[in-house]
Order: sequence, then structure tokens, then C-alpha cells
Amino acid sequence: MNAWSGIPGASRLVVVSNRVAPITEGQPMAGGLAAGVMDALRQRGGLWFGWSGEIAEGAASASLREQAAGPVTLFTTDLSRADYDAFYRGFANGTLWPVLHGQTGLSRFDRAEFAGYRRVNAQFARSLAGLVRGNDLIWAHDYHLFCLADALRREGVGNRMGLFLHTPFPAPQVLMTVPVHAELIRALCQFDVIGFQTEADRTAFRDYVLRHGGGQPLTEDRLLAFGRLIDTGVYPIGVHVDEVRAQAIASANRPEAVALRRSLGDGALVMSVDRLDYSKGLRERFGAYERFLEQRPERRGRATFLQIAPPSRSDIETYQAIRRELEAEAGRINGRFAELDWMPIRYLNKGFPRSVLMPLYAEAQVGLVTPLRDGMNLVAKEYVAAQNPENPGVLVLSQFAGAACELDAALIVNPFDPAETAEALETALAMPLAERRERHTAMLQVMRRNSLDRWRDRFVADLAAPAQTASATPSWPGSAPPSRPFSVTRMPWTEAKPNV
Ligand code: UDP
Repeated sequence: MNAWSGIPGASRLVVVSNRVAPITEGQPMAGGLAAGVMDALRQRGGLWFGWSGEIAEGAASASLREQAAGPVTLFTTDLSRADYDAFYRGFANGTLWPVLHGQTGLSRFDRAEFAGYRRVNAQFARSLAGLVRGNDLIWAHDYHLFCLADALRREGVGNRMGLFLHTPFPAPQVLMTVPVHAELIRALCQFDVIGFQTEADRTAFRDYVLRHGGGQPLTEDRLLAFGRLIDTGVYPIGVHVDEVRAQAIASANRPEAVALRRSLGDGALVMSVDRLDYSKGLRERFGAYERFLEQRPERRGRATFLQIAPPSRSDIETYQAIRRELEAEAGRINGRFAELDWMPIRYLNKGFPRSVLMPLYAEAQVGLVTPLRDGMNLVAKEYVAAQNPENPGVLVLSQFAGAACELDAALIVNPFDPAETAEALETALAMPLAERRERHTAMLQVMRRNSLDRWRDRFVADLAAPAQTASATPSWPGSAPPSRPFSVTRMPWTEAKPNV
């Protein structure tokens, strides 16, 4: 049941995110948020506000561009060079992103950049204040906008506001490495609803607010903090399972898929798709694949690893460094193992439209998804959804991806242990059909239940109806979230099955 269309005269949905997805179909979209939100807005109609992606050189430009796209109206604004540097490259991606992913050593802090972050949140709020109507529901996305509700309230906007965090939320001591953590979380608590991908993320947030922010617990979902009631919920983002599979089938004879199939012959394909980001564990993954080739000489020439890694945030030094390192590693491993007619790693620094990716997923015997930390990881879910259920591939999944909470029928690995990942690769390649089908069926079942529609409907319902603490509804298929936030490696899969 559609939570939106069933409410006569329902409030409009105002979505706010750092970037607004390009409207043109067929463009590469490197980002889970874009895929999820655009689908939601297309079905519902509404307004989407965000940065245009353009940098206005010279004086800051806060002028709005408006573009109608069917039931969705997009409003975009430019950023000045100074704001882009301080807000986007600086505090959002130089400070917050690494800390939210537990990489404190890669985080840097500069007070002027935090001032820029607040300035851009305030600029967004000023523009939005002129667009928002009395009963609109405002749904902000992700770590770029922690201060948006605070800025909107300063503009006199009293609407219900929610934020969904697509990334993980770290343990308090990790968050507290950000010197302005107290100010940041006080501002975040101006939202009425804060949504997380997993129970572990929500618990970490509550821990911080209760132990370090003077908050009081009212219920499992509701907090009183900084004089406000805040509802927290767990809403694991999903994918349209049937659409992914339909696209994999419809595009099976696209030239890219045909060329890949031909080039592999009867060899096996291990496939990974990630933005080129240090949180994705690419360095560790290359190391694991090297270990696999060392230990399994019989697989040499018979298994190819395809890593698609479109560059991202390439004007940030930490991203330039990881790119240099991966190029060197791919070259070194290929130099060590390649033969005249076989290349162990195919490393592609470019993005592909989803219509190309889906049939490629379907070609792969193994989906290797091993981030060091990830809010959800939609690639893991897309890989499973794209498989032929009669002869599915095997997902090897990091225990530190949010997706591992739901997809515990995958082969769960610790990405920091190359030997374990190498072992899982062999297990995946050698897995009998019956077990592959059983695991695949179990994962599909969970993904159908926790669909993208359900993610959106549950969040919007909680945002619209403060009195009902609907967020208490567990997002796991059983009656309770997994007792362990991360599936334990080496656990026989059947023991983990009650959660499926
Ligand atoms: N993606 C894409 N083309 C590419 C690489 C990725 O369309 O070349 C999409 C991918 O299908 C997925 C999203 O980008 O839907 C990545 O989402 P994920 O949650 O895995 O990671 P994020 O980039 O959001 O950290």
C-alpha cells in the first residue's frame, strides 16, 4: 500500500540533497542516493532541491534554476568556488566522510571549512524558505546537510523535517575526533526524524546523544534532546528487484555484454563495481585477489577479476592518492601473473550506465563487494537482483557493509583479512548449484520485503505522522534485527538462517 497516494490532500514532499540527479536517462549515475530518490520522486511527484554541480566563479550566486521533469520539479543552485572548497571538498568530504566511515586517520579539520559548511546549509535554507508551503514534508539526505533543519528553523520554517543518513554513523569516540561534534549534533537534532541504514548506526547515534549530548530516552525510537523530540528509525534502502533483473535480461545482448562474454570464453568472472573511494576497500581487495592467484594456481587463466571504478571526488588529495596506489597495484599484479592470452585484473576507471551494468552483473559468477565500511552498498543488492535464479552467481560481502545485516546468506567476509577473502572466492567459484540457488532465493526474499518502495514509504509515513512511532517496525524480515550488528564470519550459513 502506497503511504502517499492513500492520504487525501497529502502534503507535498520536498527532497533536499547535495546533488540533484541528472534528468537525462542513460547517463552514468555513480551514487546510491540518486537512484533511490529519483525513483521515489518519479512515482510520487514533488520537489527536489540541491546543488547544480556548477561552480560560479567570482561572486557567489544563489540564483535558482527550475526544471520541470514530469511530476518532479528540480530546483538547483550554484556554489561559489570558496563554498565548494570549504563545504564540499572541505568539511563534508575531507572531514565528515572519512570519520563517518571510521577512517579518522584520513580526516582533516579546519574551522573555516566548517563555517563554509554552515554557510552552504544556510544558503540552501534561505532558498528553500521561499519554496516551502505550510504543510510540506521536508526530507533531507545525507551528511552534507546535518545543519539544514537548524538553518531552516532560523528562517522561520516550522514544517516537519527528516534526514536520512545514507552513510554509517560512527561510535561516539570516533565522531568526537571532529572538534565541532557538539555543535554539529545539536544542529542535527533540529530534525524531527533521523533515519539510519542499520540498527548499529541508530544505536551509535543514540549513544552519542544520550551519553554526550544530555539527551533522555523516551522510547526505543524517541529521544528528548536539546529541548526537542527526535524520532529515530532504521530504514535499509533497497532496490527494485524485478526491474534490475528485467534490465539484465533486456540488455543481455548489448555490445558491452557480448564483448565481455566473448572475451571470457568459458573462464569465470569475478566482478566489483565501486566509486573509486578509500572506504570501498579496493586496495585490500586487490591484495586478496593476488593471494587467491598465489594459492590457487589452477585458477590462473581461468578466472578474471573485473573492477569497475569510476573516479570520484578526484580533486581531493586522499582520492588522488588511492587512485595512484590502485593503478600501481593493478599493474604490479597483472605484471606478475598475466599470460599472453589472459589478464588477471581488468581495472576500468570509468562509469557505466545502469543499463550496461545490470547485464554485466548477470555475467559474473562472483560479485565481490568488500568495502571497509559502507552505509548500505547498493551494488551488493543489484548484483543479487540481476542474477538468473536458475543459475545464480555468489555474492561475497563485507561484514562492514550495511547490506550484510540483511544479506547474511551471502559469503560474509572481513575485508581486512586477505586470506579469508581469497578463501571465500574459491568457495564461491566451487559452490554447487543447489547451494547457490538456496542462498540466492533467501537473499531475494529479504530484498523483496525491504524494497525501495518500503524504504521510502516507511520514512515518509514516520515523517508525516509523529504520533505513531511506526519506525519501531523492524526492517529485518523476522521480528527482530540481527542480534549481532554484523554477521559473524565462518558462521555456517544455515546457523544464520533464522534471520532470513
Ligand atoms: N553505478 C552506476 N554506474 C557505475 C558505477 C556505479 O550506475 O559505473 C551505480 C550502482 O549501480 C549503484 C550506485 O551507483 O546503484 C552505487 O551505490 P552504492 O550504494 O553501491 O555506493 P555509493 O557510490 O553510494 O557509495
